[in-house]
Amino acid sequence: MKIPASSLILNHREQFHTTKLLLKAKASGDIPSLNDGIGKEWGTNGDELFSRTGISESAGSVQGGPANIAAYDFENPIKPTGFMHSPTFAVGESTQLQMGMCIPDQTSTATYNHRTDRIDFNWSRTANKPSHNALLHSMNKMTDASGGSVVDLSATGTWHPLGGATMGVACSYSGEGYGTPNLFVVDGALIPGSAGVANPALTIGANAERIMESVVSQLR
Ligand SMILES: Cc1cc2nc3c(=O)[nH]c(=O)nc-3n(C[C@H](O)[C@H](O)[C@H](O)COP(=O)(O)OP(=O)(O)OC[C@H]3O[C@@H](n4cnc5c(N)ncnc54)[C@H](O)[C@@H]3O)c2cc1C
Repeated sequence: MKIPASSLILNHREQFHTTKLLLKAKASGDIPSLNDGIGKEWGTNGDELFSRTGISESAGSVQGGPANIAAYDFENPIKPTGFMHSPTFAVGESTQLQMGMCIPDQTSTATYNHRTDRIDFNWSRTANKPSHNALLHSMNKMTDASGGSVVDLSATGTWHPLGGATMGVACSYSGEGYGTPNLFVVDGALIPGSAGVANPALTIGANAERIMESVVSQLR
């Protein structure tokens, strides 16, 4: 199934810029030496959204503030899962949003679409069914323990797109593109599809710092 970025990603299209810039530069011939690994190992960080509704204790009619509760299920029989409770004004008093994360079963390949000037992904919901089942298992464990029922919102997209110019595939471990000396990728595009059952910002930041420490002194 070919899914356009616009339907898979909701509001996070801005996070594709490195992958899109490189794919577009390759397609237009602006940087012809860009390698064939560009676009590969793109992933959703295993993100799937659920809500827990009908909980007995109020989550507040107006839910605000930063996301502040993370939960992990390392005893999940399918694979480890992590969840972040995100407060939101969009749901009612007895509902809690839970964003699940896991290591995806299959990453995908991003390609540049000349017609739309966007990138497409051949990301497969079917191939990632075990991930979905693992997250659902943890959600059911949560409601069995403390009430409410699970609403599956997993079709809504990903919040943490990663990959497309990944280390070991398109770039070296110091972020330099294979075939493009002095062109470095230091952001989320370098991470292959998953930050390992966690929100990725700190992993992306730590990796960028690691690379900058060694690269700045080596720039030719
Ligand atoms: C609403 C929201 C909430 C989130 N919450 C969390 C969270 O709680 N925890 C977490 O871990 N992650 C969270 N994320 C995800 C996290 O923010 C991203 O994974 C992370 O910021 C990606 O880092 P990055 O450096 O790869 O890209 P970005 O942070 O998107 O940085 C890309 C930069 O490149 C710039 N840029 C783009 N195009 C060009 C261009 N052509 N020329 C020059 N500059 C350009 C952009 O302006 C931007 O500054 C959230 C994201 C959003 C949108």
